[in-house]
Order: sequence, then C-alpha cells, then structure tokens
Amino acid sequence: MEQDKMQKIVALCKRRGFVFPSSELYGGFAAVYDYGPYGVELAKNIRNTWWKAMVQDNENIVGLDSSIFMHPKIWEASGHTSGFSDPLTECKECHARSRVDHLLESVGVAADEKMSAEEIDDLFAKNADKLKCPNCGKNNFTEVKKFNQLVQSNLGNFTDDWAKEPTYLRGETAQGIYVNFKNVLDSARVRIPFGIAQIGKAFRNEITARQFIFRKREFEQMEMQYFVKPEEMMSVYDEWKEKRWQYYLDLGFKEENLRWHKHENLVFYAKEAYDIEYNFPFGFKELEGVHARGDYDLTSHSKASGVDLSYMDPNTNEKYMPNIVETSVGVDRTFLAVLTESYTEEGSDEQARVVLKLPYQLAPIKVAVFPLLRNKPALVEKAHEVFTALKKEFMCEFDDNGNVGKRYRRQDEIGTLFCVTIDFDTLEGGEDGAKDTVTVRNRDTMKQERVAIGELQAYLNDRLTK
Ligand code: ATP
Repeated sequence: MEQDKMQKIVALCKRRGFVFPSSELYGGFAAVYDYGPYGVELAKNIRNTWWKAMVQDNENIVGLDSSIFMHPKIWEASGHTSGFSDPLTECKECHARSRVDHLLESVGVAADEKMSAEEIDDLFAKNADKLKCPNCGKNNFTEVKKFNQLVQSNLGNFTDDWAKEPTYLRGETAQGIYVNFKNVLDSARVRIPFGIAQIGKAFRNEITARQFIFRKREFEQMEMQYFVKPEEMMSVYDEWKEKRWQYYLDLGFKEENLRWHKHENLVFYAKEAYDIEYNFPFGFKELEGVHARGDYDLTSHSKASGVDLSYMDPNTNEKYMPNIVETSVGVDRTFLAVLTESYTEEGSDEQARVVLKLPYQLAPIKVAVFPLLRNKPALVEKAHEVFTALKKEFMCEFDDNGNVGKRYRRQDEIGTLFCVTIDFDTLEGGEDGAKDTVTVRNRDTMKQERVAIGELQAYLNDRLTK
C-alpha cells in the first residue's frame, strides 16, 4: 500500500512537471534527477523557508555560498579521502551492488556506515545466510569492501594521469563553512556564539540508487554550523534539536510522522548525534542530522593549513577552539517528505481528487486565474487583467485549458491554494447586480466565495500569510 503511494508520487511528479529522471532521452542516468517547472518552485520555496528560519530569524546566523570545488587538501584534512566510504558488496548472480549496512538493516540487524570495517565484516559474516539481494533475491555475495564516495574530477589538471591527483566535487557543504570560519569572523560582525548557513549542491558516489530523490548522486544540502564555547555545546545542541523539531511541526508535518534516531556508532570526534527521521512511504528514514561535532573540524583545518582557527573572546581574552553544532538537511529529501506529507486522495468515483495539501509558503503556485471560457474574448481579457494585477504579489498561473472542473483537478494536483474564476457575472453582474466579482475556490475546503475584484488582493493576502 505504502509502496503504492510512492509510485503514485513518482507518477504525479512526472505527470505534473515536478521531477523528471535525468537524461531520459538517452535512457536515464541513475540517481540523478531534474526539477521541472513546479519542482523548481517547490525546491526554491523549501530553500527560502529554511533560509528564513536560519538567517532571517536569527540575528547571529549569517549566510555563505562557497564553491563546489575546493583545494583537495581540505578533503584530506576532513578525513573524507580516507574515511568517507560505504561498505559495498556485489551479488555474484546479478552483479547488483548493495550497501552492506542497508542489507543488514533489512533483516533487522542494526548497522550503519560509520562502523569500522571489522565490525561490518563481522556482522555480515554472522548474518550471511539471512541476506538476500534486493535485485534478484539470491544469496551469493562478494566480500565486503569499503567504497569511497567522493566524486573525482580533473579540474585544473591537464595531464592524462589526473586521477593520481584528483580534485573533488564537494561531498558536503559543511567543509566550505569550516574553511571560511575565519573570513566570516574577520569580516562580519559576529561573535561566538554564531552560525554560518549555506545551501548548495553536494555529490556522492552513492552505491544504491533505488528510492527516487531520497538518495541522489547529485543533491542539495542546507547546512548550518553553529560555533560555540566548548562548555556550552551540549546545552546549545539541545536547543537546536528542539528548534529543528519545531520547524517541521510549523511546516505542518504530523508529529507521528517524525521521530528521533540516536546514533549509537559515533564517529570518533562526535559528542552526540541524532537524526530526525521521517516516515517516508518506504518507512522511517533520515531526513536531517543534528550533530554535536566538538572541535574536530576547526582543529583539523588548523593543523593541516597551519592557520590557527582558535577564537579569542574579546571580553575575557580567553582563547579556545570553538565547538560546532551542525544541522544538516537535504533539499531533495525535504521535497520528498513534503510531497509524502501532503499527497492526499479524497472522495470516490467522479468526486475523487488527488490534492497536494502543501503549506502556503511551499506551494509552487499560490493562485490560479481562469476565464470561464477560453473562446469569449471579454472573459479572457478580464481574466488577464486580474492575473496581471495578482501576479505582482503572488506566484500565479493563468489557465484556460479544458473545463473549470478539469482545471480545478489539475491545480489540486500541483497544490495551488486558490483558484479565481472570471465568469459572466463578473462582466454583467450576478443576481444582486454587483459587477466585477469573481469566484474564489479554496483548495482544501473546496468552498467557493464571491469576492469583489477590488478586494481580491487583500482577501488572498489575508489567507496566504497564515
Ligand atoms: P544516509 O545515511 O541516508 O546516507 P548520511 O548520514 O550520509 O545519509 P549526512 O552526511 O548526514 O547524510 O547528510 C546530511 C543530509 O543530507 C541528510 O540528512 C540528507 O537529508 C541529505 N543527504 C545526504 N545524502 C544524500 C543523498 N545521497 N541524496 C539526497 N540527500 C542526501
């Protein structure tokens, strides 16, 4: 049933222009996807909502946009070239590759990619006879090997053997923040505690690519690194855990669809790590990481670069290496969680409708404007007039295709909050003789109200900001 919901969401995304498989003309390109006309709007609104919650709403969080390419030494210092790997096994029958921690999870054995090679090998050996290839169902695997996820490139290297000294497409946006810590400190008016927020693409050679945009090889992260005094890290960490939980509730997520997952196997430097998991159609999975990272990041970059990144408190002259609380979430995973949360089927038979009950700040289109009939120039002209005025204020769409019922269904499927129809009563006056009124239909209640064109903006504004 829930897998069924996943298929319906994937189909809706294609049908209505939210998400397209990449390079479809050429048979597709695994784990890479393109956002279509409504997808870009939704993704943009997701970014804006996160940015507002971080940068606009907190006076001590500032933004950054660091480059995708950085000095390769950054990835050595951070531990990514040596340790950013997933345990991989290959099915000897069908050659499908799987992540060993995921195979183990599928038979109820707690494992994760942060375990040491020995721990994973041991669990794999102990549970070997229970494991089945997700592709062909057989049980015949190669030995586990660690596969590094960093994506390599030849940027700036013009030799044939560039692979010996590759540059990397960033595996996470966080490193760009750490290496700009001093620049921000020296240029913006910030003092500890403060945060740096960044949204941008990240790249990982993910072994498995089976869950639509949940796990992509090119994806987008929204990360905020909050720099604190060491002794304050855990209390600040608890505050951020609470804030991030509340963020999803404020976006209308049902609390029963969210849960905390504590990392049992911490990377050696981490003090505590929790993920917010969301109940995707394929079960509860990580949506966001909220991690207390200690001073590992700045210490490593200080050592490797030779530049001291410690902080001098201007009031007390106390010098220390800042600790970091990190919140990290994917645009794409939020996109899928939001679609899962808002996908609704209502009614039956002719009354049946699919509606995306997106919160107002995320809906790609806020208002659709229809002339009742496309072949009546007076209606079309008036509808254009209304549309032109409204689009200055809201993301609007003009739709004159098919009958109004069909247009409602289409707008419901893309989550449009209000539909405004210009009909003959608009031009000639209705029963009460009042001209220049339109029908406004509410997506969720499907109720229709007659509203004067002069009051339309205020009417919508009132309902679109609550
Ligand atoms: P997973 O265990 O699912 O592979 P992770 O623990 O490696 O995720 P992090 O490195 O903590 O993920 O990345 C932070 C966030 O970035 C994740 O919570 C997720 O929202 C997003 N993210 C990570 N990898 C991907 C991916 N391949 N595709 C889409 N989003 C991703």
